Amino acid sequence: MGAVHPGITEGFVGAVGNTPLIRLHALSRLTGCTILGKAEFMNPGGSVKDRAALGILQEAEASGELQPGGTVVEGTAGNTGIGLTHLCNARGYKALIVIPDTQSAEKIGLLRSLGAEVRTVPAVPYRDPNNYVRLSGRIAEETPGAVWANQFDNLANRRAHFNSTGPEIWQQTGGQVDAWVAATGTGGTYAGVALYLKQQNPKVRCVLADPYGSALHSWATSGTLASEGSSVTEGIGNSRVTANLEGAPIDDAVRIDDQLALETIYQLLWQEGLFLGGSVGINVAAAVETARRMGPGHTIVTVLCDSGDRYRSRLYDAAWLAGKGLSQPEPAQPVGSAQ
Ligand code: PMP
Repeated sequence: MGAVHPGITEGFVGAVGNTPLIRLHALSRLTGCTILGKAEFMNPGGSVKDRAALGILQEAEASGELQPGGTVVEGTAGNTGIGLTHLCNARGYKALIVIPDTQSAEKIGLLRSLGAEVRTVPAVPYRDPNNYVRLSGRIAEETPGAVWANQFDNLANRRAHFNSTGPEIWQQTGGQVDAWVAATGTGGTYAGVALYLKQQNPKVRCVLADPYGSALHSWATSGTLASEGSSVTEGIGNSRVTANLEGAPIDDAVRIDDQLALETIYQLLWQEGLFLGGSVGINVAAAVETARRMGPGHTIVTVLCDSGDRYRSRLYDAAWLAGKGLSQPEPAQPVGSAQ
């Protein structure tokens, strides 16, 4: 290794995390709160899931389960697979990714470009043995030298956020954080950060955001897993409580519909210059709702999970949206422009 200087990052692994915490100006002005977005789309693999992928890999290496030249198998909506594949390339492993064929062509194509072995499968419920997550577990069992990342129930996922995302948010706000708001896929991001922030200050309000079609809003508010409707967002919502979500503090829950999520990401594009994915629309709209419920003067942190680039043919395509019964928001007047 060459000289060590504080300004030099050690490869892909060293570039994961330490993302900016971005003030969302227009929505902060609108609510009288400080609404902040953790810029996870700036991770080297392009999403919040780089952190979980790294944590899972490091624990598998440390336990000896993952050996040089081994294979990492995972069922993923895309982003975890993308992070894992980058890491596998960087550390000499193979990546085998099982992904539902309902996910965006951008993510599936990117996985192939990165060199993962990709198996697309029909999207079926978790109770079906051919569900992508369960199938990935079986493939891992049957493949010599393979480990199953198992992001939903492997607690290395939320530990990665407890050890990095949470402390970064605490430091970046100087401990001045009143609420944490996030949607959950595996629950790793939400739970890891919620557990860390509560440990620093039990008064931090932890709010679970949820799309339609997910059972978690009902579970968080009434204790019953039940869902209604559906969502075009990817990577979030669940029909079950994962090990990563289990035991996480939840003070409130907010459900956001797709049209509002869409209006939110277009507003972030036109007013803030930020090009972001659909789960961000759920997160930021839920942060705005949390600001309304708490009243002005609070600091609310949420997460900007990935970039709009991964959904250009969907969320940013008028014809695709129309096919889903959604209308493409009109470009808003840039903030501060003369009428
Ligand atoms: N947003 C996107 C776009 C994702 O891919 C994911 C991960 N599935 C999430 C949010 C949720 O993150 P987590 O798995 O940590 O709950």
